Amino acid sequence: MSDIKTDNRIETVSKILGREKGPPLDDENPFEAMMARFDRAAELVNLDAGLYRVLRQPEKQIIISVPIHRDNGDVDVFTGYRVLHNTSRGPAKGGIRFAKNVTLDEVKALAAWMTWKCAVVNVPFGGAKGGVVCDPDNLSMGELERVTRRYTSGLLDTLGPDSDIPAPDVNTNERVMAWVMDTYSMHKGYAVTGVVTGKPIEMGGSHGRRDATGRGCMIATREALTHLGLPIRGTKVAIQGFGNVGSVAARLLEELGLTVVAVSDVSGGIYNPNGIFCGDAAEWVVKNKYLEGYPSAEKITEAELLALDVDVLVPAAVENAITGKNAHTVKAKVICEGANGPSTVKADEILEDMGVFVIPDILANAGGVTVSYFEWVQDRLGYFWDEETVNERLNDVTTRSFHDVLKVSQDNSVNMRTAAYMLSIERVASVHQLRGVYA
Ligand code: GLU
Repeated sequence: MSDIKTDNRIETVSKILGREKGPPLDDENPFEAMMARFDRAAELVNLDAGLYRVLRQPEKQIIISVPIHRDNGDVDVFTGYRVLHNTSRGPAKGGIRFAKNVTLDEVKALAAWMTWKCAVVNVPFGGAKGGVVCDPDNLSMGELERVTRRYTSGLLDTLGPDSDIPAPDVNTNERVMAWVMDTYSMHKGYAVTGVVTGKPIEMGGSHGRRDATGRGCMIATREALTHLGLPIRGTKVAIQGFGNVGSVAARLLEELGLTVVAVSDVSGGIYNPNGIFCGDAAEWVVKNKYLEGYPSAEKITEAELLALDVDVLVPAAVENAITGKNAHTVKAKVICEGANGPSTVKADEILEDMGVFVIPDILANAGGVTVSYFEWVQDRLGYFWDEETVNERLNDVTTRSFHDVLKVSQDNSVNMRTAAYMLSIERVASVHQLRGVYA
């Protein structure tokens, strides 16, 4: 075993970066976006050059074929990915998404974001992400189940409560997690509840997990408004995305006293300057699948929603919502990133110049993985907490993490995103230094 040098004066991240100037940044490639933020923070914390090289690479990248029988008897083959970015602090943790446009680069970025996210909230996990390239809207329930089970069986060597623990992400949910748990458990020969989080409560899921990401967004927004001296009551908020994160964030921000004036989904946006009743809108979506046609509001486009004259904007859909092209249209004073990677690097620069306070994704949406950690702890103990306990502990972790990041931001005169990366890189690096490089 050799130690990673802690005082590498000969080679620094700045020197490596100076030497390795590659092609110009592709602003909408999530992996490049993640790396650009990582490079900047690594330079600021003066990360050891050897460790910098270690953390730039995912530990493991798996690509599998996922063949299934379609309902009509045909065999179709989908592509599945699982990337483990870093497991120095504990088992790899991160969701599985099913979407048409999933790419390996995207999954690599999302896996690294999970490493930083787990470190920001200081839960003992590393980072991972998985994805299957498919269109879930064109799969029957049976086909979806077969995709999930075949994908899980392709990853049996990687998955496990001590090694790699999936959770829901874009287009996956409790139902899908139950199939993952069952497939894994059938191969083991006994029920392994801790192999996934975000499961149904009756089979080892946690109270409060379903709302956790949206609840974390609400808590982070509350802390940001208080820090900035802005009022809570009547403060206007627009939310892009009305799925598991956006719809819950909308409901909880409304309960806190803010006025949700606009929400959107893939069918477009709805706007009511006097406030949208989020419960009503959610009921409409349960009945009609999309927000489109919702009666008590005006129809707006997504571009119009992002540019609304509101105090808080919550991008809670997918990557690259706010880019170099539209960041200057934002009027909000606070952005709470409910999605992973909703702003590009160019957008960061513009928003910073405009003085917008951005609560970065790896802090803003970490409520999900925080309660996933609670779920995993409960599964290991076989002792379950009530919802009030879960929500209280989530409130403690999110509030503390917000203020940890804020302190780094103030101490180093950097924005909240750079501060969150600095904090998490230092936490991961210190474990690597203690563990050394096994060779
Ligand atoms: N997919 C969620 C995220 O991006 C949750 C991950 C988890 O709970 O493991 O944070």
